[in-house]
Amino acid sequence: MGMITDDGTVLERFADAAEEAGDPFVYPDGRVKPGERAYLYHEVSQTYLGDPVNIPVTVINGPAAGPTVFLTAAAHGDELNGIAVVREVAHDWDHSKLNGTLVCLPVLNVPGFLAQQRYLPIYDRDLNRSFPGSRTGSGGRRIAARIFDHFIEPCDLGLDFHTSTRGRTNMLHARADMTDEDVARLARAFSTNVILDSEGPGGTLRREASEAGVPTITVEMGEAHRFQRPLIDRALNGVVSVLAEYGLSEESTVHWPGWRTVISEDSEKTWLRADVGGIVDMEHDRGALVYEGDRVCTISNPFKTNTETVEAPFTGILVGVLENPVVYPGNPLCHLVELDADTLRAVERQQQYDPTRESFL
Ligand SMILES: [Zn+2]
Repeated sequence: MGMITDDGTVLERFADAAEEAGDPFVYPDGRVKPGERAYLYHEVSQTYLGDPVNIPVTVINGPAAGPTVFLTAAAHGDELNGIAVVREVAHDWDHSKLNGTLVCLPVLNVPGFLAQQRYLPIYDRDLNRSFPGSRTGSGGRRIAARIFDHFIEPCDLGLDFHTSTRGRTNMLHARADMTDEDVARLARAFSTNVILDSEGPGGTLRREASEAGVPTITVEMGEAHRFQRPLIDRALNGVVSVLAEYGLSEESTVHWPGWRTVISEDSEKTWLRADVGGIVDMEHDRGALVYEGDRVCTISNPFKTNTETVEAPFTGILVGVLENPVVYPGNPLCHLVELDADTLRAVERQQQYDPTRESFL
């Protein structure tokens, strides 16, 4: 390992700076020069005992100049898939030819991560509604401000990794404000089949960063509380594609996902909800193609003497499905997004090409 600085940061040189090297990445406790990588803990709050609450950060400044990209995960403390993605990019990839800088924050919500829950447990706040934060505001907003000011705003673009809420699962998809051309470019570069187009709620990292001039998308993948290798691999491919699009990597190319659909903000209509309480037998995985009238799931009483069938109201892809198979009236069962005729043909072609691949994850 490299040298350890006064504040405990591990700093190592992994490449010689190129002639056209970029600027150092500067954060409150130090700087990371071209060709250097820093592993650091940054204090964002304190516990009741007065101990620091530190978040782990890895900064990799490539030997040559290029954009600065942040990768963040676990803003919701129990959403783990993105942690694997960010750590793998930061620590398993060879960055000896990187043009630009990667700012990797695998666990944003450290208190939530320690408790394995979605929200900040001490302050009971949604960290992903607290951005850009405030130095004098509530606990959550103070944490958000330290993350945002020091590691988000200095970047040129960013990827924020999430999973579905506990009890549900999502196919890999991006959420992005496609009316913003810079954000749309990033969303397309990440190369998912499905992009949900919305500005995003106020206080989310992607919306506030984008409004501050740092185009950012949310990547949704799988379920909470676990690592799902196929999804992690596909998200890593998305990162490769983004690095190619923005010139950080000259050795890779921008991917085309095979087919793509951009769904405009109207998602309430496409959540199929239970009209009765009961036990759910879901008949499809996330990412499955279902045709209008297909049975999506059944909801039955404990004796199985009464079974309600839920059918697809239109032809589409199941972006999200229930994992915890119990519902009361009004509970979401699945998130079905409609496919236009051209996209449907492309999806069917892809399935014909590889019939063993029933779902698109
Ligand atoms: Zn989340």
